[in-house]
Amino acid sequence: MSDDLGDRVLETFTAMGDEEQEQCIHCGRVWYKIHHKDGVCHVCEGEGRPGRTELARRKRNRGYLSLFLVTAVIAVVLLILRAV
Ligand SMILES: [Zn+2]
Repeated sequence: MSDDLGDRVLETFTAMGDEEQEQCIHCGRVWYKIHHKDGVCHVCEGEGRPGRTELARRKRNRGYLSLFLVTAVIAVVLLILRAV
């Protein structure tokens, strides 16, 4: 290994050490943030697990769905009350 290459390797490792780490939101594996995709490690991503953004989107959608269901139930109850 030439000195130049050695320096570059050392630089890369130093940069990796400075890199912020985070935990995978599914398996809890701690790895460098840059290697995580939306909070998900490579393994979990390979298994098709959703990232943070996707999870938030699904949660929002569930919220809208329950809001819709509650509104629908109220509407039906009002219709029944009016019919009586
Ligand atoms: Zn993971």
